[in-house]
Order: sequence, then C-alpha cells, then structure tokens
Amino acid sequence: GAVDVEADVVVLGGGPGGYSAAFRAADLGLNVVLIERYANLGGVCLNVGCIPSKALLHVAAVVDEVKHLEVAGVKFGAPEVNIDQLRGHKEKVISKLTGGLGQMAKMRKVTVLRGYGQFVGSHHIEVQETAGEGQEKTGSKKIVQFKNAIIAAGSQAVHLPFMPKDERVVDSTGALDLKSVPKRMLILGGGIIGLEMGTVYSTLGARLDVVEMMDGLMQGADRDLVKVWQKMNAPRFDNIMVNTKTVAAEATPEGIKVTFEPAKEGVTVPEPQTYDLVLQAVGRTPNGKKIGAEAAGVAVTDRGFIDVNIQMRTNVPHIFAIGDIVGQPMLAHKAVHEAHVAAEVIAGEQQGNKELASAAFNARVIPSVAYTDPEVAWVGLTEDQAKIQGIKVKKGLFPWVASGRAIANGRDEGVTKLLFDDSPEAHGHGRILGGGIVGTHAGDMIGEIALAIEMGADEVDIGKTIHPHPTLGESIGMAAEVAHGSCTDVP
Ligand code: FAD
Repeated sequence: GAVDVEADVVVLGGGPGGYSAAFRAADLGLNVVLIERYANLGGVCLNVGCIPSKALLHVAAVVDEVKHLEVAGVKFGAPEVNIDQLRGHKEKVISKLTGGLGQMAKMRKVTVLRGYGQFVGSHHIEVQETAGEGQEKTGSKKIVQFKNAIIAAGSQAVHLPFMPKDERVVDSTGALDLKSVPKRMLILGGGIIGLEMGTVYSTLGARLDVVEMMDGLMQGADRDLVKVWQKMNAPRFDNIMVNTKTVAAEATPEGIKVTFEPAKEGVTVPEPQTYDLVLQAVGRTPNGKKIGAEAAGVAVTDRGFIDVNIQMRTNVPHIFAIGDIVGQPMLAHKAVHEAHVAAEVIAGEQQGNKELASAAFNARVIPSVAYTDPEVAWVGLTEDQAKIQGIKVKKGLFPWVASGRAIANGRDEGVTKLLFDDSPEAHGHGRILGGGIVGTHAGDMIGEIALAIEMGADEVDIGKTIHPHPTLGESIGMAAEVAHGSCTDVP
C-alpha cells in the first residue's frame, strides 16, 4: 500500500522504554514516529505500574508510620479513608505525568500516532488507529515507512488459566483500580508487585494471605533482609504459604474459593479458602508475539521475548528492541537505559557518528526495590548468589540499631549489607560486588551502592567517604567500615 508517514526511526510502544528512545532520538536530530495504542503515553509504568502503585504506597506508608509515633506519646485516631478520593488522587498523579510526556513529545516534534502497530514488512509498520480510553479500533489505518525501528511493546500480567472470570479476581491493573477494600484478600505470587499491592490493601483494612510456589517471599533478595521485612509485616497476614501451588479456583456467592497443593514434599497446606479478592501477581509475559514481528523477520522466542545484543539490536540489523520485551529484570530504569543505547546507535549510524554508533548497554548492575514497609532494596551480587556460585566475599553488615537516625525515627529494624570481593586475587582490598538494604527509604539509598559498584570502589573508598550525620545513608559508610574491620560503633 501507499506510505502515509516516513520516519528515520519508528518506536513501537510509548512506555518508559519507548518514550525515552523517541525523545533521545529526536534530541539527536532524527525524525521520530512514536506509536502507542492507548490515549496516554507512559506505558505500564506511568499508567498502571510504578507510579500509581507508589502514589498509593506513599499514603499507606504515612498511615503506617504514624503508628510508630505512639511510643513517642503521639497517638492518632483511626484514619478516615475516602476511597473515591484516594483513587482520584492517584489518577491526578498519573495524568500530571502522562500529560507532561505529551508536551515533551510535542516540544521535540515527535509524531505520536495513536493506534495499534504491527510490522507488515522489514521497513513498514501498519498502524490501526485506536480511540477512546482503551484501544477500540477505528477503521482508519496508516502505513509508516522507517529506516530504523525500536520495539518497546512491553509486557502484560500473566493470568492463570484456571482462574474464573470474575470481578473479584484481578491482576495488578485491577488492584490499582481500587474499587473497594476486601475483608480477606489472597495474593497469588509473593513477588514485589504482589507484596506492594498487598501492603496498600492491608493498610486500608484487608486481611492478607499470600501463596508462593518457591521457598520464600521476594525471590531475588537475600533471605536475611527478607526476614526483617517479614517480621515487621507478620501482623498483616493470616497465612503465608510458601512451597505451595494454587491449583484451582471457583467463583461462589461467598467469594473466590481457592485450592492449594504442596509444591514440595512434606509441606502442609490449608483446606480450600474463600476470599473477597484474589490478586494474580505471578509474573509478566512479554508482548513479542503480538506485533507482527515475523513480517519484519525479527525472531521471537517461544515465551515472546526478543533477543538483542548489547547494542539492543535484534537479528534484523536495522531493528532494535528494549525494555520488558527483551527480558528480565522487567524494570523501568532498565528500559530507559536500553532506550538511550538504541537511540544513540541508530542516530550514530544514520549520521556517520562513530562514537554514538558504538553506544552499548554496559551496566554492571541493575538495582531492584520493593517499595514495601520497610523497603527492601538490593543491587549486584547477593550473599545467597555468592554462596551458590562459590564466590568468596567479605561482608560488612550494619544493623540499624546502631544508627542514631534510625533510632530517632523509631525505625531501627533495618540492616545495611555490603559484599566485597574476597578472592585471593583481591589481596584483602576487594572491590564491592553487591549490597542490600532493608529499612525505611532503602530504595532511595541503593543508588549509592550501585554507583560504588560501577566505579569499582573498595571498602576504604566507601568507608572514608564522609556521609552526613545523622542519616540513614551513613549506614552504607558504616557497613564498609565493618567490612574493613575499623568500625567500633557496631554492637
Ligand atoms: P511498557 O511500559 O509495558 O510499555 C509498552 C507500551 O507499548 C504500552 O503502553 C503498550 O500499550 C504499548 N504497546 C504494546 N504493543 C503495542 C502495539 N502493537 N501497538 C501500539 N502500542 C503497543 N518498574 C520499576 O522499575 N519500578 C517500579 O516501582 C515498578 N512498579 C511496578 C508496579 C506494577 C504494578 C507493575 C505492573 C510494574 C511495575 N514496574 C516497575 C515495571 C515497569 O512498569 C516496567 O518494567 C516498564 O513499564 C517497562 O517499560 P517498557 O517501555 O518496556 O514497556
């Protein structure tokens, strides 16, 4: 068919990966078309992910935090929650951010096409216009011809096949809708997303059960850190079921009746339980199979991922892919960094700029954060991984009972942990390999450890860096001193 729009680069998907790629490419002087099926840019992260969940978690954290003031002689009454207003607040946060993105696209002269995009050839993509709040298709179609493409079509929640279609069964998007607060809620999948949403609902009054197939909650984080979180959060839960499979569910007038089975020998599981709300948070699946990739010759794995090299290039040299669709970890900050690489490589190649064209995704580490209360954050090598992989590490552990600020805050349950290379080649001056923090504001602090790893810092570099007193961030310097053996302040 006839070509309606021509682009130096077309970006498929307007999430953190997609809009970051489009903006960087435009800033580098390329003519950019950005395709997004929904009315707002921002993708999962801004519309139904990172941002709305944090708007609600902030409210939950403040409500929970004031309870810690009772020991200081300050007591608040029970909060009065207007759930419609709370939802409205969350919506305002989203629209402020997505509206800002729309403006930034305009300023940069990025052409945003509202519609569902599918490749129809190696240099052509067809966009079926969508309208309204969702992705209702209208009759109108456009063909975009491109020199380069960046696929940033993201991922969506996995739904278990045996779950009944019922408004009492939701995924994270449904949970963020916050229609009402259930009495009894089951979180299916004990990962970050499930536990964050559980935190919100429990603070608003729900009793929680959680079921997890693996042997512990919050897989990926070190067990000693998770233990601290679990101890603090035990009062929210009636049942924490690990090594347990969910095998059946039935919609009944009383609620969703869920059946469990042991995932491992020797595990006992409860009788079937009935819930007012079931949150499915068992992972996310990439959208690779829904974009006509085959028409462009782009290889998609059985699971729907698109393989790329460190320049974010697919098997088709002029087509790139970034974000959730290229693999784990499915995190917004990873998508953004990959986006910049893809945009720079493309601009460099189109403009004959060798330096730009050699851009690559070389990050040593990508931090993870559970924005629960307390927060759990980790980056790089974990102690559990070090054990499994037989990597010799020197540990610096700083418990927050020795942190003046944590005690002053009435929140001294936290722990900061740093791991240094202790292999013979390190000669006792090993560089930092990883770190983890459990405690309030852990997520805001983990960036320093990521920087230390990227810079190849050792325990002296970190320990001799003067951190302001009294701050929670001091615990990072202290943990380094503990590893070095020069800290006398730890109990
Ligand atoms: P997405 O954000 O998935 O964007 C893809 C976009 O492409 C979507 O807008 C989609 O509509 C569009 N699209 C797809 N196919 C087509 C098509 N064929 N045509 C047109 N448009 C299409 N990450 C963090 O780092 N921190 C957090 O705190 C965090 N919290 C989260 C909380 C929740 C509840 C969830 C679900 C996720 C959270 N994440 C968080 C993960 C984060 O949202 C994702 O990693 C991030 O959004 C991935 O960005 P992306 O650009 O790859 O894809």
